[in-house]
Order: sequence, then C-alpha cells, then structure tokens
Amino acid sequence: MYADIIIDITHEKLDKIFQYRIPSQLEGMLKVGTEVVVPFGRSNKETRGYVVGFSESTEYDTARMKEILKVAEKSVAIEAKLVALAAWMKEYYGGTMIQALKTVLPIKKEEKVREKRRLRLLLDEEEGKRQLDIYLHKNQKARARLLAALLEQPEQDYDLMIRKLNVTRSVVRALEEQKVLALESEKTYRNPIHYRKREQKKYVHTKEQIHAMERFREDYRAGVRDTYLLYGVTGSGKTEVYMEMIAEVLRQGKQVIVLIPEIALTYQTVMRFYSRFGDRVSVLNSRMSQGERYDQIERVKAEEVDVMIGPRSALFTPFSNLGLIVIDEEQEGAYKSEQVPRYHARETAIRRAEMEGASVVLGSATPSLEAFYACQCGKYQMLKLTERAGNTHLPQVYITDMREELKRGNRSILGDRLKEMMRERLQKKEQIMLFLNRRGYAGFVSCRACGYVVKCPHCDVSLSAHRGGKMVCHYCGYEMPSVSRCPSCGSSYIGGFRAGTQQIEDLVKREFPEARVLRMDMDTTRTKEGHEQILESFASEEADVLIGTQMIVKGHDFPNVTLVGILAADMSLYADDYRSGERTFQLLTQAAGRAGRGNRPGEVVIQSYNPEHYSIQMAAKQDYEGFYEEEMRYRELMGYPPVSQLLAVLMTGADEEQLELAAEYLKKYVSHIDRNRQIQIIGPARPYVGRVNDVYRLVLYLKCEEYQVLMETKNQMERYIEINRGFASLRIQFDFNPMNIF
Ligand code: ADP
Ligand code: ZN
Ligand code: ZN
Repeated sequence: MYADIIIDITHEKLDKIFQYRIPSQLEGMLKVGTEVVVPFGRSNKETRGYVVGFSESTEYDTARMKEILKVAEKSVAIEAKLVALAAWMKEYYGGTMIQALKTVLPIKKEEKVREKRRLRLLLDEEEGKRQLDIYLHKNQKARARLLAALLEQPEQDYDLMIRKLNVTRSVVRALEEQKVLALESEKTYRNPIHYRKREQKKYVHTKEQIHAMERFREDYRAGVRDTYLLYGVTGSGKTEVYMEMIAEVLRQGKQVIVLIPEIALTYQTVMRFYSRFGDRVSVLNSRMSQGERYDQIERVKAEEVDVMIGPRSALFTPFSNLGLIVIDEEQEGAYKSEQVPRYHARETAIRRAEMEGASVVLGSATPSLEAFYACQCGKYQMLKLTERAGNTHLPQVYITDMREELKRGNRSILGDRLKEMMRERLQKKEQIMLFLNRRGYAGFVSCRACGYVVKCPHCDVSLSAHRGGKMVCHYCGYEMPSVSRCPSCGSSYIGGFRAGTQQIEDLVKREFPEARVLRMDMDTTRTKEGHEQILESFASEEADVLIGTQMIVKGHDFPNVTLVGILAADMSLYADDYRSGERTFQLLTQAAGRAGRGNRPGEVVIQSYNPEHYSIQMAAKQDYEGFYEEEMRYRELMGYPPVSQLLAVLMTGADEEQLELAAEYLKKYVSHIDRNRQIQIIGPARPYVGRVNDVYRLVLYLKCEEYQVLMETKNQMERYIEINRGFASLRIQFDFNPMNIF
C-alpha cells in the first residue's frame, strides 16, 4: 500500500499529491486526514503533510520512493477533520480528491497583505494649536489642513485622510520629520463589518418559540447531538430561536456556523447577530476579496471568532470545537454547489456535524421535500412554529385568473383587483411590493402568428428584449438589434410576449403617476452595494412601490408593506424540471409572507394563467402540508427525489458527434454493470440549454432507490472514463439529486 500525501494545504498549488511508502510499523495506523511527517525535496527536509488517500499500485519506481517517517505529534486536528470531510465529499458526490480539498480547505492566495496605516498626533492640544498658527502664517495650507483634522481627532486612518484632505505623501513626511505626527502601521485583519451597536429589542418569546428552544437545550445539555428542522411560518421568529440555541452552544465553549443564502445575507440580518453576540461574530460573503475572506479564517484560527455567518462555503470554517451548524432557508437552491464536487450544504453539514459531535438546525417556512420527508422518516426532529410572532397575522390571499381578465378585455399585466388595491394603498400611504416570477422567461421575443422564438445562435436559449432596441443572450452576452418582422413567417405580430420588470415599472408609472417606484433586478443591482441600497431606501420609505424578481422576496422586513402582488405566478411552473412545482410553491409563499409584517394586516394578490394548479392553490392557503402531500404523490409516481435518487451525468464537448457517441457508450456501460437491474437510465438528452458558447451538452439521468448503488455506479463510471481515451476531450460531471436542470 502507498499513501497519497499533500504537503502544504494552504497553498494555492494544492494540485500536487505525492506518493510515499507506508513503513510496516505504521501499517493500519493511517487514515485519510492523518497528519504525518515525511522527508521532502532534495534535502529530505522533515515536512508535515496529510494523508489524502491510499493506492495499491503506483507508476513510480518503488525502489526510489520515500517512506513516511512518522505520525505527526500534536496534529492540528481541525485540518485533519476537514481532509476527512473532503474524502467523504469526493466519494459521495464525485470528482477528484484535489477538487474536494480545494472546496474544503481555506486556500491562501499570494496576495499582498494590506497594511492599515494610521496617523497619530504627537503634540498636545496647546502645542498643536501653536503649530497650526505657524502653518497658517506661512500659508502652508496642506499642512494646516492635516494638522487641523488631527486636532479634531488625534488618531485617523492614513489612506482615508490623504484622500479626504487631498494632501500628498510629502506633506505627511514633513510633519513626521517635525515630530508633529507619527505614521504607524499595523497588520490588521480586514474586518468587513463595521460594528454599529444598535438597540436590541427584548421579546417575550411565544410558547412555540420557548418550546423549540427548550427541546434543543435539553438535548444539548444531555449530550444529544441531532438534526432538527425548525419549520416555522414566515415571520414566526425563527431567528430568535436560532439565537437562543447559539447562546446555549457558546456557553459550552463551542463554536457555531450560521449559513444564510447569499441573497438574504443583508446588513440587517447580520446586524441582528452582531447586536446579540458582539464582535465575536464574523461574516463571509462573495463580495469580499479573497484576502478579506482569508483574514476572517485567520481570525477563526486565532480564536477571535465564535460565530461565523456566511453562504454555503462558510460551512468549512475551521473551528476546532464546532458545536452547531444552523442553515437558514434550507430549501434554497444556492446550498447546492454548481462546481465539482456538486455537494449539498445540508447533507455535508450533517456529515461534518456527525464527525465533530455537533448538532444541525435547519430552518424554513417552506422546507425542502427532502427535509420534511426526513422528519417523517424519523431522521430529523421537527420543531414547529405555526404562528407569527408579535401581533401580526398571516396575510389574506386572493387569486386572479388572468384568462378571465383577458376575456373581459383587460389586456394589462395588472388585473383589476390588484390595480384597485394598489390605488387604495397609495392613498393610505402604505407600501406595495410587486413580485415578478422569474426573469429568464420575462423578456423572450416570440411571434404570435407562428410561434417562432428568437434564439441566441451560440447558446440555444431565447434572447431577451432590452430597452434601446436590442436583444441580449443571458448566457453568453450575445446581442442583436430587435426585429420588427418575424424572421420565420414575416408577420409583424412579433415582440416581447411577457413583460419584464422594466415594463412593469413603466406601466405602474403610467397608471399611478404620483407613485414613487423602485425597481430591483439584475440590471439595477450590478454594483456591489446596489442590492443593499435599494432595500435600504425602500425600508426607509423613500418609495411606495418596489418591483422586483426573486431578489425582493428575502432578507429585509418591511413593516409598512401591506400589499404584495405576484405577477405571472405560474411562470416557474413551465420550467422543464421536476422541482418546478416545489419552487413555485416556495416562491409564492415567501413572497406572500412579505405582506403584513407590521401592525396592519397584509393582503396578497396572486395573478395566474393556471390557478387550478396545487402549487398555486396551496400557496394561496399557505398550506405547506397540503402541498407536501400532493407533491410527494407526484414524486412517488415518477420516482423522483426524495423518494428515489437521481444522478445526472452532465457531459460537455466541442465535437457534437463525439459527444453523442461517448454518451451512448457510457449508457451501455451502465446497463452492463447494473446486473440487478436496479437503475433506470434516461437519455442521453439534450438539456434545456443544449449549447453554451459553442460547447455541446448532453445529460444522462440515472434513477435508483438506493443512493449507495448510484454512488458505486458513479465510482465505476469514473474509472471507465479515466481509462478510455474516447472521453479525453470531454468534460463529465456528476450531479446527485440536482436542484436545476442544465
Ligand atoms: P422568520 O425568520 O421566522 O420569518 P424573524 O425571526 O425574522 O422571522 O422574525 C420576524 C419578526 O418578528 C422580526 O421583526 C422579529 O424581530 C420579530 N419577533 C421575533 N420573535 C418575537 C416575539 N417573541 N415577539 C415579538 N416579535 C418577535
Ligand atoms: Zn412568425
Ligand atoms: Zn448566447
């Protein structure tokens, strides 16, 4: 047996794995993750490394292969645990060990350490004023400006000061020489949040909140570690419950990871944690530079942080004594990685918690079918919050059948009921949110005479009409001018079939000229802070109407919103995807949940062309369990997750013929190794987007009741692909129980 060893796990070039011989005295003592000492390099320097795998054969000259010296003493346990987690991920989701390690280990990019420099006044006030007079007298304006500023505040940030006061480096140097000030530097951790203390509300917890907290606390104190689903309707106060649970875990000297979907990771949310736990809280998000993120990891290792809040990747925070992982909005698609290994944060969190003796709390108003099913099977414990906290109630929901509107001659995007209710709210100075379900479909250009849809020549997706007479591909950025006649039949009945957020904004402004309107979508939130700014200004009631896509559904609490309009509610039902019913229900319920968060009751209007669908009916009733039953019937009938397991094999390549051939071979191979006929094979199919940037895509779907069987099949496919040259120029990825179709 030979051991695969990685040497420097924080290094960017993690790609190198070295093989070592295992000496007889170490046989049976090594595991994946064990830290060992090996001779390394030409000088055979004793170096620490981690075991990341074992192999029975090697391509190297075994006579010249070096031997592991010993197991490292005082191993940094946390890295060993993360390496072991990576090994599990590789096995469970596919891909290579290196890909898994890169996902799990914080990698240090060679980046200049940003020094924080500070100017400090060395004179006392009196001396300072005297010196200021001298500068003014000599008409040395820049020096005077700088000194005056320091007299006001004797210690200030160097970079900020020279920018704000418009002084040069040489002015600073002059004052330094005159011993007026000192330029000091310190290596600082870049702290992304500037902690502003806010008044913390004290609530009388509801009975249900107390029950949930106590169930957890009793278990935790008794040493029971488990997975819990906190299933609470929108506005039921789940965050309060998380915070009590976190407090309990911190009291025991353990650390906590809180995962929040990126989109909901707003200033407001993070502040709630800061004002409760102070600056032992840290945040990771994708808008931070790699350096900033690495700094937060350094703070964790220096034990300056006990609570890490972040999106999916924060799951791998190297806490050495992890006690709890909270996953808020656990149903979110963002918890599934789009890169190999295509892991799900929920499953991976549960695995990490098992390995390290921690608990997991999943929270949602609309749990994933996976999580609810796991409760029904007794795998997770369910904690329920059925009522809203405080004095607020769930909103009243109405459904408008848009086909009826059309029959009555209303061709507008806004149905009569919604329009009327908007008018009333505007008069009462209450706020309105209009939610447009899904942007991708919104702008597509089609011919009403023949059905032709204008597509991107490279990507095989429909182009979206943008303002300024152009059509744009959202996959590759291809643009072309809008057409006025159908390229296929010549009819002039061609155009944007359904409205996007921009058209809705125009319409609302025309219909209600007095209304102040904000729009939030991909176009208005391009900048780093755009998203946050729009939400902040709506929260401070600088606008009456907020129009947006999915983005407006999460995060902020707007107490003055009493009306939510959901336009084209059924749009997401048409996606060719087994989760579309679930996604539609979740979106509608979450959107409806935005109404009536304050003292006044809320109302919701759902506009749909397909109002009979159970996803829409149940969302209107806010009946999750009713939805769950209907949806499970469908999943059972079709053999979809969570009842059955689904493995998507995504294959891409530049040569279409070769790709098709390879897919057929792979399919034959699977049916050949599936001796017991446990696997159903679907495809190869051209996915919804069949070509992106001139690269072709095909998918094979494998269905089976047992995850284990699919996993072993995946392992065999990986070996088959590796040894057959026909696959060499193709890219093949595995995706278990995919969240999205490709
Ligand atoms: P959820 O995450 O379940 O939608 P939040 O935790 O955001 O709900 O809570 C919704 C609102 O209710 C927040 O403004 C929160 O501060 C408030 N809240 C939470 N618990 C209570 C309580 N026991 N009494 C009154 N208000 C509460
Ligand atoms: Zn046509
Ligand atoms: Zn394109």
